[in-house]
Amino acid sequence: MKTTALGSSSIEVSRLAYGCWRLAGEGVDGARAVRSAVESGYTLFDHADIYGGGACEEIFGNVIAESPSLRDGMVIASKCGIRIPGVLGASGPYRYDSRRSHIVESCEASLRRLKIETLDLYQIHRPDFLTHPEEVAAAFSELKSAGKVREFGVSNHQPRLVAALQRACPMKLQVQQNEFSLLNRQPLHDGALDLCLAETQTLLAWSPLGGGQLGEGAGELLTSQRSYEPARVIPLLDRIAGEHGTSRSNVALAWLLRHPARVVPIIGSTQPTRIKEAAESVELMLSAEEWYELLTAAETAPLP
Ligand code: NAP
Repeated sequence: MKTTALGSSSIEVSRLAYGCWRLAGEGVDGARAVRSAVESGYTLFDHADIYGGGACEEIFGNVIAESPSLRDGMVIASKCGIRIPGVLGASGPYRYDSRRSHIVESCEASLRRLKIETLDLYQIHRPDFLTHPEEVAAAFSELKSAGKVREFGVSNHQPRLVAALQRACPMKLQVQQNEFSLLNRQPLHDGALDLCLAETQTLLAWSPLGGGQLGEGAGELLTSQRSYEPARVIPLLDRIAGEHGTSRSNVALAWLLRHPARVVPIIGSTQPTRIKEAAESVELMLSAEEWYELLTAAETAPLP
């Protein structure tokens, strides 16, 4: 698979990341999904401590333990900062926690579950409104100097907060991970992608198919409902897919890949055939006309 730099770092990653959120789902063979992603050329793997209550990192760690040579070709990312009562021993109300101790301890726990020494990328999952950026920066510095993390980023942070954290951090923030798809175009409008361009950060796009709503077999019954977003977009995706001899979902991924900030969509399927097929989207270059036609169909109001 084609590759790109992670932000402005020396780490090179596949143009698509593989997301590990659903690895521990009911009826899912998580280890098989990970191996399929490796075979299909994915090198960047996205985790969070809370995925599957820790089970997703454990499944992945077992794959590495069985085949240690896989680690060399992998760029492994995880996140922390969301505490859910009953998950990973968290008590108290559902909350965000970016205190230094929580970040450091969460990272160490992820390393143990993943059975690795160093995370290539560590991200704050959601902003903690009560922690000053300087405290987050101190945690990052501690993890970096201990050799536990190579690069850092954030997820679901507004661009101004990313800038505030960057001012506090001695190291470059290489990644913003946000929801981005034809069904959620917020990064185009809230300044996240502008900041990626200005600072050479990578935007990791989560739920690039809207959690499956833009996949084949999804939304067929809804195409007559013009007020429903997938219903406006799907017929156009299908037309463009037909013209390029590819699938609907690959056109939806190619739409993300076309942005000049070098967006990296995080593929969430657990099915080997879909994981493999998605990898082909990297070769599909949409024209500017096709890109804007899709944007116009997705937006409820006409472009100014
Ligand atoms: P997605 O690719 O938009 O959705 C994946 C879901 O859609 C799966 O249930 C999959 O089912 C289904 N699907 C995939 N391809 C399909 C197709 N062609 N036709 C029909 N259904 C299809 O991505 P996601 O799983 O929601 O998110 C991807 C990754 O983003 C996660 O793994 C995680 O790493 C990251 N994420 C981050 C955050 C955050 O807050 N930072 C939040 C959510 C997700 P099958 O498995 O059956 O194929």
